[in-house]
Amino acid sequence: MHPEFEAVIGLEVHCQLATETKIFCSCPARIPADQSVSEIAVNSNTCPICAGHPGTLPVLNQKVVEFAIQAGLATHSRINLKNRFARKHYFYPDLPKGYQISQFELPICENGWLNIETDAGPKKIQIQRIHMEEDAGKNVHMSGFSLVNLNRAGVPLIEIVTGPDMKTADEAGAYLRALYAVVTYLGICDGNLQEGNFRCDANVSVMPKGSTVFGTRTEIKNVNSFRFVEKAIEYEIARQIEVIRSGGRVVLETRTYDSDKDITISMRSKEEAQDYRYFTEPDLIPLTIDEAWIRKIESGLPELPEQMKSRLVSSLGLSVYDAGVLTGSKTLAEFFDRVVHKLGNPALAKPAANWVTGEVSRLINEQGIEIQQSRILPEHIADLVRLVHDQVLSSTAAKQVLALVWNSGEAVEVIVDREGLKQVSDVGSLDPIIQRVIEGNAKQAADFRSGKDKLLGFFVGQVMKESGGKANPALLGELIKKKLLG
Ligand code: ADP
Ligand code: MG
Ligand code: ZN
Repeated sequence: MHPEFEAVIGLEVHCQLATETKIFCSCPARIPADQSVSEIAVNSNTCPICAGHPGTLPVLNQKVVEFAIQAGLATHSRINLKNRFARKHYFYPDLPKGYQISQFELPICENGWLNIETDAGPKKIQIQRIHMEEDAGKNVHMSGFSLVNLNRAGVPLIEIVTGPDMKTADEAGAYLRALYAVVTYLGICDGNLQEGNFRCDANVSVMPKGSTVFGTRTEIKNVNSFRFVEKAIEYEIARQIEVIRSGGRVVLETRTYDSDKDITISMRSKEEAQDYRYFTEPDLIPLTIDEAWIRKIESGLPELPEQMKSRLVSSLGLSVYDAGVLTGSKTLAEFFDRVVHKLGNPALAKPAANWVTGEVSRLINEQGIEIQQSRILPEHIADLVRLVHDQVLSSTAAKQVLALVWNSGEAVEVIVDREGLKQVSDVGSLDPIIQRVIEGNAKQAADFRSGKDKLLGFFVGQVMKESGGKANPALLGELIKKKLLG
């Protein structure tokens, strides 16, 4: 960033709730795990209510409220015991009623926060509000005409709005990942980024460094990848600084991110954006939430990423960094927990974490899959950790085994036996090799005896080569030293 400027970033996230049915009718809202949105016949998940026919009445789905409360509790928000729905009016073909049922002055949750890790330590990001609303349908543009698919109309969303608290693209990325971890740990969102289950509007402005008056912001709409949000923000900060430095001024507008070109493009100016003419939704009575229900939901909350992270640090002795990587993904965190459980020895948690954040993550990231979609099971990693710890496998051999497990899913023992990868730790079979190597390198042996300690490595290397790389290196050092000096 230019040294004379600083950036201000606030994020609005639309998170699709994983309820079985839509927010105001009983049409299916959730895509079965083995299907994609495109496989569902167009306009098949619809009824007169979500298709916006006149004379129909919305009926609130209780599960949506429960999920919104869970999100509120997990983000330390205040739950408004009385809140209400409002109509947000705008005209668009995918919005059959001509308005979206949302919340305005009285949302279900307010004043929360979420912690993120930054280079300067932890930082609290304020969550101004969380409100419930229905999604719109989807316009499908053909050549010369457009079609409307209302399957998504009425699918429940929560919108989570932060304060203007972030200063860099990295902080915004960290917040999004933290929030994503929270909603997926809770299980209130399926978290499928490609399908738009979790999408972000980024508000960005810049101002002279040290200023307390925010600059004019632009809003980058609907970005559904963490990396793209970061890149869009970086581009936008640079663009705004350039505008100001060249004597222009930033205008309040909505922009879109083009990931192919890595630029943001103006869509429409906010000045000419229509007034939504919000008013209270007359077809729904104000929502009154029972305090006892909130307590019940609270007592049923699962362990959340922050809590799990502290547990990994305090009771398993992992570094904050490793704990952060592991808990950043619910699937990875669950996998790691099961490895530790299988090991049954907290002292081995650290090497287990190294495997999961290292080799295992590398393999799954390469393939772009979740750990559960691979053939690697927690017992594979537990076995590898144990065998390396017991010096049965060298760490190089263990990596070889993992690569084979990745392809076949076979048990570690089976692979180790078949490939003959066990380290040789038995003195009887190493002794003759050591003898041979010393005899074949008389000059080096004499040098070692006269004080050239560094030559030990040479001998270990030679014996290792002779043993086909399978000798236990720690034991080898001891044996060779004894033989040379004794
Ligand atoms: P809108 O409804 O037009 O999107 P909001 O007042 O709800 O406007 O603000 C949306 C987001 O913009 C919030 O996350 C807020 O923190 C952020 N924001 C407000 N002002 C600025 C600014 N000057 N720079 C960056 N972000 C801002
Ligand atoms: Mg906005
Ligand atoms: Zn419906």
